Amino acid sequence: MSDETERPGAAAWVPEYDDREQGAAPGGGAAPEGGAAPEGGAAPEGGAAPAGDAAPASAPASVAALRAAAPACRGCELQQHATQVVFSAGAQTATLMLVGEQPGDREDLEGRPFVGPAGRLLADAVTKAGIDRGALYVTNAVKHFRFEERGPRRIHKTPAVGHVVACHPWLEAEVDAIAPQVILCLGATAARSVLGRTASVTRERGQLLQAPDVAARLGRDVKVLLTTHPSAVLRLRGEPTFDDAFAALVADLRLAASHLR
Ligand code: SF4
Repeated sequence: MSDETERPGAAAWVPEYDDREQGAAPGGGAAPEGGAAPEGGAAPEGGAAPAGDAAPASAPASVAALRAAAPACRGCELQQHATQVVFSAGAQTATLMLVGEQPGDREDLEGRPFVGPAGRLLADAVTKAGIDRGALYVTNAVKHFRFEERGPRRIHKTPAVGHVVACHPWLEAEVDAIAPQVILCLGATAARSVLGRTASVTRERGQLLQAPDVAARLGRDVKVLLTTHPSAVLRLRGEPTFDDAFAALVADLRLAASHLR
C-alpha cells in the first residue's frame, strides 16, 4: 500500500488483542506447524509446505502464542530490514477475518496492522457497511514490511510469491486459532495465501470461492470472498472513480458480513 500520505499517531480501529483474555502463558509461544524457523536464518528451501500438505493441528495455538512467537521468525529476509513484525488485531472470537497484503510504513513503525491511510479508509468502509468491529480479526498475508528506499522515503514493494509462501504457516495458524466463519481477502496477495493459487480481483470479487485446504483444516465449510485492497481505492482519491470504488468495497464488506451466521 502507498504510505506517502501517512501521518503519525493513527489509532487502532479494531480492538487491540487482549492476551489476558486468552489465558496465554507469559512469554509463551510456538512457531506454527510447518512454519518458519524461529531462529537463525532462512526458511526451508522452497518455502513452507504447500497449504494442502499441512496436517491438521491437533490443538491450534492461541493467537497470543502466535503473536509471542512471531518476532523470532527468520522465515524470510524481510525481517532483516523491517522495524518489527506486525501481527494482527482483533479478538480470538472474531467471526469475520480480513486478510490484507503486508504492513505498510506506518504499520511497520507502530507494530499494528491497518493503522495507515489505507487502514483508515478500510475502517471507514467497515463503518459504512455496518459491521461490528468487535466481530473482526485483521491480519496480513506477510507480516513484515517489504519496501525499497528512495532517499529518505521507504516505498512499498509488493511481496514476492516466495515471501507469501514463507509466511503462509503464520496465516494458516491464525485461521486455525480464529476458526472464522468468513474470510475476506483484500487483494490478490491475500487471496494467493488463503486460496493457495493465483486469483483475480476483477474476475472473482463478489463470488464465494473454494478454499478446500481451509475447510479441511477446520473440518467445516468456510466462506471465502475476495475484494480489492483498500490501498487500491485510496489511490483513486481525487479521481472521478473514487466514490464508485469505495462503494464497491463497502458492498463487498456487506456481502461478506451477510454470510455470517
Ligand atoms: S515476513 Fe513472515 S516469514 Fe518472513 S520473516 Fe516475517 S513473519 Fe517470518
